[in-house]
Formats: sequence, C-alpha cells, structure tokens
Amino acid sequence: MNDERDRVLGMDRRISRRDFLNGCALTVGASLIASPEWFNLLAQAETAPEKDPNYYPPAKTGMRGSHDGSWEVAHAMRDGQTWPDAVDDKESYDLVVVGAGISGLASAYFFRKFAGASSKILILDNHDDFGGHAKRNEFQSGKRLLIGYGGTQSLEAPHHYSKEAFGLLQELGIDVDRFHKYFDQNLYKGMALKRATFFDKETFGVDRLLSGFGTHYLGLTYPPEVLAQIPISEPARKDLARLQETKVDYLSGLSAEEKRRKLIKTSYKDYLLQFVKVDPEVVKIFQTAPHGLYAVGIDAVSAWDCLQMEYPGFRGINLQSREDSPEQAEPYIFHFPDGNASVARLLVRSLIPGAVPGSTMEDVVTSRVNYAGLDSSESAVRIRLNSTAVRARHVGDPHEAKQVEVTYVRSGKAHTVRAPQCVLACYNMVIPYLCPEMSEKQKDALHYSVKLPLVYTNVQVRNWESFQKLGVNSIYAPGGYFNGASLDFPVSIGEYRFASTPQEPCLLHLLRTPCKPGLPAKDQYRAGRYELMTTPFEVFERNIRDQLGRMLAGGGFDSARDIQAITVNRWPHGYAYEYNPLFEPLDRPDSERPCVVGRQPFGRIHIANSDADGHAYTNIAIDQGYRAVREITVGGKHEASGAGA
Ligand SMILES: Cc1cc2nc3c(=O)[nH]c(=O)nc-3n(C[C@H](O)[C@H](O)[C@H](O)COP(=O)(O)OP(=O)(O)OC[C@H]3O[C@@H](n4cnc5c(N)ncnc54)[C@H](O)[C@@H]3O)c2cc1C
Repeated sequence: MNDERDRVLGMDRRISRRDFLNGCALTVGASLIASPEWFNLLAQAETAPEKDPNYYPPAKTGMRGSHDGSWEVAHAMRDGQTWPDAVDDKESYDLVVVGAGISGLASAYFFRKFAGASSKILILDNHDDFGGHAKRNEFQSGKRLLIGYGGTQSLEAPHHYSKEAFGLLQELGIDVDRFHKYFDQNLYKGMALKRATFFDKETFGVDRLLSGFGTHYLGLTYPPEVLAQIPISEPARKDLARLQETKVDYLSGLSAEEKRRKLIKTSYKDYLLQFVKVDPEVVKIFQTAPHGLYAVGIDAVSAWDCLQMEYPGFRGINLQSREDSPEQAEPYIFHFPDGNASVARLLVRSLIPGAVPGSTMEDVVTSRVNYAGLDSSESAVRIRLNSTAVRARHVGDPHEAKQVEVTYVRSGKAHTVRAPQCVLACYNMVIPYLCPEMSEKQKDALHYSVKLPLVYTNVQVRNWESFQKLGVNSIYAPGGYFNGASLDFPVSIGEYRFASTPQEPCLLHLLRTPCKPGLPAKDQYRAGRYELMTTPFEVFERNIRDQLGRMLAGGGFDSARDIQAITVNRWPHGYAYEYNPLFEPLDRPDSERPCVVGRQPFGRIHIANSDADGHAYTNIAIDQGYRAVREITVGGKHEASGAGA
C-alpha cells in the first residue's frame, strides 16, 4: 500500500494503542525521566511490575493475547536453554499450579475445597494478566467504559456442563439463567439487522456487501434475491442454487454407516467438487465458513462435520444431523461483556479475597482488579504473573519423591519453589520440555496436540450507524484478511450498559485464522502460528482499516474518522486440538486418544488444561482441573506439607 492510501485509511491517526514497558505505563511525567526516582521506578517495574499502581493490563491496547514478553522464555526453553543457576527462594507451598487460565484457577479452587481453605497455593503464569484465553479488553470512549473479550467468548450450553463445572459456576455466584434478561435477544432483530456476506474484489472481482443469509447460526443459505446478486458466473450461480435445494442422495447405494464413514473421510470441499459436482467458484464462497470453529477452511473439515453444521448439500443423504446437540438446544446468550474473563475474575475473587472487589456476578463486570494484591505473602493463594515455568522436577525418584521443584523465570531471573504436588495447567506441548524425564510415550502423546492459531480483534468505533444504515449486524467475508466482523454482543449487566443505540460508541469484533489451505490441518496450524508470530501490529491495523472501510463503505463508514482504538489478541496457541476426524484414525478407543495417554499423572505432577481432553471449551478446562485435583486428593498422594500450617 502507498502512503496516500495509508493516509486515507488513517494509518497516521492517533488512536489508543498505548505502549507499556514491562507492564509499567510510560506515562510518567518528563520530570521523572533520568532522575533517581525514574530508575527506582524502573527497577521496581522490573522486579514487581504488578505493584505499580498503573499496572492494569485489561486497559492495554495494541498487540495483546500472547503479548510480547510472554513467550520468549518458553521459546528459549524449547530451543534448549536451561537455567542451572536458579535461586531457591525457600518458598514452599502445598500445590504449585503452572498456568493461570481457567483450568489452573479451577485446579486451585478444587484443591482448596478438598484439601482445606488454608492450603498454600502458588499459581504461575507467563502473561501479564490471569485468565489465559479468557482475556479481558477494556476501552475508554470519553468517560464511557467499553468492555470486550479478547479470547474465550461465551459459556456454551452451560446446562449441559458436568455437575462439577456447573457446580463451580454456581458456587462462584453465576446464575446462568439471568443471561436471558441481560442479553438483549431482540435488539438487532427489532432493527431488522441481518447477517451479510462481503464478496471482495480480489476473490470475486468486485467489492459487494449482500445482506441476508443463513437458516442456522452456522448455516449458510442464500435466499433467491441475494443469490441473484452474488458476483459469480451464471453456471456457478445455478450450481449454488442446486446445492441449496438439492434432495439428491450423492452417496446412494451406501448403508447409513458407510455414508457416515465416507463423509468423515471426505472434506466438504471434495464433497462439493466430487459428489455434488459444483463449479469451483461455489467453493470460494464456503472456503472459510468453518474458520471460527475449526481455524481451517472446508479443505480440512470433514463433510460429516459440515452436515452437523447444516451446510447445504446433504438433504437427500438421509442422515440425521445431531438435532439434539447441546449447542442447538440452548441459545447462544451466556456471555459476559468480557467473555469468560468474568469467570476467571470470579475464580480469583474466591481464591484471593480482596483482589477482585465485590460479591456478585453482576458487580464483577465493572470491578477493578487489584493486581498488587495477587501475589501477597499474606494470602494463602498467590498468583504470580509474568513468570514462565521452565522446569518441573521431582526431588529424587519420581515414584518415591515427596516434593516437586518448579523453576520459573521472571524479569530475566530464574527462581525455584517447592510443593508436594504440582498441576501443569499449561499447554500439552510445553510439558515435555518442563518434564524431560517423562516416558517417551507420554511425551509423544503430549506433543501430538497442535493448538489452533487465531486472532480475536476488538475495534472501538465512534458509533455503529453504518451497520444500521446497511441493515447488518454481522458480516462473513469469505475472501477477507479477516473472516468477518460483528457488532458486539448486546449484553448489559450490573452497571455495565451495552451501546444500544447506533449513535453510541461500541466495539466491533473481527476474526482472523491464519491457516494455509491445502495442507493437512496440523500443518496449517503450524504455518499459521509462524505467521502470527512474525506479523507486526501495523499489518493488522492496515488490514482492519482497509477491510472495514470497504465492507462498510455503503453505510458511510470512514476508517480514518471512525476508528478510535484497536486491540489485536493474537493466539498462536489458541483452541485445544480437537481430533479433526478427517485426519484421525476412525475407530480409536477413547483410552488411546493421545490426550488421555498424555494426561496420566507423572509421580506428583498432574496435568490439567483443555488440551488434556482435546476440547477447546471452558467446561472442559474446569473438568480437567477437577480430574487432576481428584488424582491428588483421592489418589492418596496428598499429604499436608505443613506449608499451610
Ligand atoms: C480465541 C479463543 C476463543 C475461545 N472461545 C471459547 C468460548 O467461547 N467458549 C468456550 O467454552 N471456550 C472457548 N475457548 C476455549 C478456551 O481455550 C477454553 O475455554 C479455556 O479458557 C482454556 O483454559 P485453559 O486453562 O485450559 O487454557 P489457557 O486459557 O490457555 O490457560 C493456560 C495458561 O497457561 C499459561 N502457560 C503456558 N505455558 C506456561 C509456562 N511454561 N509457564 C507459565 N504459564 C504457562 C498460558 O500462557 C495460559 O495463560 C476459546 C479459546 C480461544 C483461544
């Protein structure tokens, strides 16, 4: 792009993307710079940035998610660096948890429940905030606070959670039924806003936004008046119409079970091309439709899975889709403004009294976390942020040892702590580096998981009048850099009010999944992760401005004028790997799934996190925390260390 285009897009505009140094805001007055106070402040920031009164990571904009500073130590560990000179801080706990995501926090919660409220627990996390994928993004528009989610979006079908996961929500004070009141399900419908598709000129020859499609929240069906305007050739249009209406059984002659197996081992792309025999232009419309769930396109998602999502082309096949699936049985409304970051905040509230003021599921939404109180010697539970675990080692033979020693790096220095029990609630693929003594079989099983990379972006805009004018509330962009953009969920809870009139500032949510079509799914994820780690913020910003400007042009949107702030949450290690059936053995017994083999306890080291069950869901993260803790408390390995006495 040239300078003139950049100027039109507003690349030179001052927007909110405040920069921080080690979590310490660079907003100190000029008089402090180079003074002794400044150096004191810097030293303090290096050793305990969380104690700085300005330390408030949710308000940071720019590149978030796996932010710079969170991943470098782990990558050095992967590349063979060791920390033999770690300082023994003589700290001992009953439990050390690696990972302050929902699984690690839930592990701490359940451990306290079973082992006693005085249990001493240390939770380490490499990020500057707790919650892992459950990430809160805050924005300020004048005096108005806008709250967004940078990762884990909603509680999906919570009434179908296990009794432990649902029970935990209840114990935290979450009454999910209240979301029926808090989530305004009629707002967009009442304004006749619809889902739309943006056909871009690079892929379809012309920029065109067409409003109105879909019968189901994942489905993709165009009504005739929209179909007539899709910028594709006439033969392709006819094929798309045929695909949508077809009642042909393209697998006739096969039994129901044979059909199921065939569809599992056929990508939806191949199904369209080889069985339905559509024009390749039709494939372009569907290519990125499953990105939000699978982080890859229809070349790497099975036709069977697309049948479940009610994609077109299966009506004549005579196979039942999972009509009673929990996702379809419950509305998608269980959403806090910061997504499941509120669940993480409620967990922290229960673990460290005073760290998250308030007492209800409503007041947690606007509550300001006291980060300085997270790692206090006065609290039985401590959360130590900006701390990357690099080693978890039994003190002695893993089968005999009474203690586990965990080494972590913080502000460039390595420290060790000890506890009789350790839960690794981090990522599966990190664990073999933390515990090289594990059997090769277990390490291979843990390495099997390749997390799905994706980017959740929040863009603060002056108002959402352009959406109203265009009659849309969410846009699917099959050829776009971002897979789509939506208005934020209309949720008002406690003192927090959603922007319910188009004149108000609000957040737009944009999804990007950096996959590489044509490769096997796991290779696409690896290539996508590399792309994310090497893409600077500026590239995201330019694409945001360009794409929003083009998609919303008909509604009068001007990127240079209307964009007020941007937060890009990049997740190179995003969703847990979910055993994409297209690439996995068909009849593998549950007990042989690599996640089950990998999560077995290794002496006093236990494994939690959503990877441990191969499902990227909050309830799974909680369930796996529960399982890991039950291994400790029921498995007979829990003895008081005396640390809590
Ligand atoms: C963008 C996105 C959207 C999602 N949306 C939903 C949704 O809407 N609903 C839903 O149910 N689920 C959703 N998920 C799935 C989500 O992953 C789970 O819901 C859950 O939050 C995962 O929790 P976890 O604790 O297992 O893992 P994480 O949240 O990943 O937490 C693990 C933590 O351990 C840290 N860690 C890793 N290695 C180390 C180390 N060596 N030292 C210290 N710390 C370390 C990580 O950095 C991380 O902070 C989403 C995931 C993503 C990425």
